[in-house]
Amino acid sequence: MPESGKVVLRWLGAAGLELRAGWTTVVVDPFFSRFPFWRLWLGRVSPITGLASRHVPRCSHILVTHAHWDHLLDAPDLAKATGAMVLGSANTCRLAQAAGVDSRTIREVHPGDSVDLGAFRVEVFETTHGTVLGRPYNAGPLPPGLRFPARAGDYRMDVCLGFRFFVGGKPLLSLAGEKPEEVRPAPIVAVAVHKRPGYYRRLLETSGARVVIPIHWDDLFRSLGPAGQQPRPMLHPPALAWPPLRRMDVGVFRRLLSDIRPEVQVITPQVFEECDLSHWSGLYHERTYDGAPVSGGPPYGCAVVVFRRSRGRFEYLALHRSHEGPGYDSNWAWGPAAGARLPDETVDHCAARELKEETGLSADTCVQASGDNRDWPVYWLEAEKDATVRLSREHDRYAWLPLAEAVALSLPALVAQEYMSVAKEIGDPAIKEMVT
Ligand SMILES: [Zn+2]
Repeated sequence: MPESGKVVLRWLGAAGLELRAGWTTVVVDPFFSRFPFWRLWLGRVSPITGLASRHVPRCSHILVTHAHWDHLLDAPDLAKATGAMVLGSANTCRLAQAAGVDSRTIREVHPGDSVDLGAFRVEVFETTHGTVLGRPYNAGPLPPGLRFPARAGDYRMDVCLGFRFFVGGKPLLSLAGEKPEEVRPAPIVAVAVHKRPGYYRRLLETSGARVVIPIHWDDLFRSLGPAGQQPRPMLHPPALAWPPLRRMDVGVFRRLLSDIRPEVQVITPQVFEECDLSHWSGLYHERTYDGAPVSGGPPYGCAVVVFRRSRGRFEYLALHRSHEGPGYDSNWAWGPAAGARLPDETVDHCAARELKEETGLSADTCVQASGDNRDWPVYWLEAEKDATVRLSREHDRYAWLPLAEAVALSLPALVAQEYMSVAKEIGDPAIKEMVT
């Protein structure tokens, strides 16, 4: 188990994910060297030298779900630059070797395997790949006489693998394939955005996931911009969209999921942006800032969103943590009152205690928001218009902000979601402009 207890995820574009805990950095399906669509039929495709290691400077393991070019193309370069071990199917391993990866750093894995990768354990299972016009896309044995750079069509899939990640013995994240029942139970799932509602209903049932991360929705034929710049979405598979030339829409996906299960959080990471998954691994909160012991089971703690009505609009209390200095404005800088639950403490008591400690407000009318976030429930409290806020040393300033501003300041997205879920529940009209 990593000492700091932190688990950080970065979405790397397409199906690419980076998961980092302690000294272990695992990358899934790195694909950065994009080329125009017409190149699929013409000539050979080389990865752009040095691009993969620019985006992923350190990496200990590279997992490849299947051998298609949009999952494997940059893996060999990344392995060579970082010394990372490549793990995948027989076709993936042969392609990696043909691309010049040292065979000692290639490992074939099969459905049913469970492999220890430093801070993570990864379970390998078989998934179904999507079809194109009812047929498997570019599947079968590798062509004879394979040489590099290879043609896009040489990247043939033998088996399509899914991975489930464990941290500290607990499931953390599962990848989802074409069939929702193939996903493994985990608090977080990474999934494509263009499926039908029934798919997601089944997926959430099977996985029990409380967080969904959309992946593989960006245009594969366009270079990724700088970190934080949202890429152009990919075209919908024609059979699933009307009109047929329509781009995938993460906003539509988000609304669809919120209709199916309002309590499920959709986190849409900006490309290359760090997302702290520690809430969900249940590790981050094993100790508080001052080293006090924290409950070993859920709920690990809670947040209390305080709002007031001022001049006919809702304003939310945002606190700025002092731990990284007054100028710090990144992850965990701003947010509602929140804290870890002590062993044997009820979560209601935890909410009241944290609220009092961090804001000086009393929790008499504090309400637990609906939804079923068992790990980290959210409470809300309406404060008087002129209520006095008294900060503890944990925070150095506060602000009363309209929803959009409170959400914009709160990172990672999980924290912003705490404001959003309360705004929805208390009927803040500002939520209408926020749900995108
Ligand atoms: Zn594929």
